[in-house]
Order: sequence, then C-alpha cells, then structure tokens
Amino acid sequence: MIKIALDMDSVLADIAPVECQIIEEVTGKKIGKLHLKQWDWLDLYDLRKDISLDKIFRTVWERWFDVHPTEEYLGGKVGELMLLGQVDIVSANWEDNEQTNKVMHKNKKEWLTKYHIPYSNLVFVDHNKNKLDLDYDIWIDDSPVNAEAAVKRGKPLFLYTQPWNMEHDYPFPVERIFSLSDARRLLKMNRI
Ligand SMILES: [Mg+2]
Repeated sequence: MIKIALDMDSVLADIAPVECQIIEEVTGKKIGKLHLKQWDWLDLYDLRKDISLDKIFRTVWERWFDVHPTEEYLGGKVGELMLLGQVDIVSANWEDNEQTNKVMHKNKKEWLTKYHIPYSNLVFVDHNKNKLDLDYDIWIDDSPVNAEAAVKRGKPLFLYTQPWNMEHDYPFPVERIFSLSDARRLLKMNRI
C-alpha cells in the first residue's frame, strides 16, 4: 500500500485569499492571490518589516471559517486517493508556542471536518524540519522549496500548481498537477 503525504495549506485549504485580506488589514496594501508570484512574496512586496509569516498563518487559522477549499468536491477527491493507499495530511507548525499550535491543530481539524475531508492521519511537522525526511512514497505539495528538495533527493512529488510555483519547471521525479484528480490519475498510471 502506498503512503501519500498530502499538504494542507494551499493544496487542500485555499489560504491565500485570507492571507491577502490580513495583509491589507495590517499594511493597507492591496494584493491579490495572483500577485503572489514568488514563494518569498513577503520580500517581493517589501512586507517583512510590517508582518511575519508566523502571524499571517496564525491569523488565517484563527479565521478558519473564512478559508475555502482549493477545489470543488475536495472531500470526494481525497477519498479517491484513499482508495489507492494511506493518505496522511501533513501540515507545518509555524509557531514554537505549544499553546498556539494546539489551537491551530484544533482549528485545522475543524476545517477538515467541516468540508468532510477524510484522511488516515493528521501529522504536524515543525517548520524547521523537512517533511521530505518523513517516510512516504509520494508527497503532494505546493511549495517550490519542497519541489527543489524532492529533485535533489530523488523523491517523487506532485507539485500542486499555484501562482507562487509557476516560475520554474522541475524535472522528474517532480510532476506538476492542476488538481487532486490529476494526482489520482498519475498514481494509477505509474503504480508507484
Ligand atoms: Mg502548502
């Protein structure tokens, strides 16, 4: 049975519109999701002096009820992946504060329940650890940093297309996908 590591932020949960809303509230700058064309968009728009990623993620998940799924019928699509193997939702801890992390875990769980998204395990990884070190057969992720790491390590990763990962194409074993149905199709074809 294959083991799939499914990223949560920006693969399941479309957090970028809420991030943009928070940025506007804090900095007054109007930025839309499509403007986030680079992974380091805080630097791209010179926002780092006004706001930190930790604060953005913390606030996003305090407002979990404002976060929409990335795709229609998301729960069904994840359910179809579960027919192929073990699907763990692997999400980063952005805080070193245990209490804040606890609240974030609870809110993420609530969100998954709200949208009827099934999973085998919900796994939280410290932000300074690399999720590619975990024991999985395939990673599904939107981070270009993880895509680069997957190429270097020869680990298979499906790169979930988002504006901030469009700059580069990555060689095998990274493959670009546009929806979770693509992931299922590729997994069925390759039978890894
Ligand atoms: Mg992500």
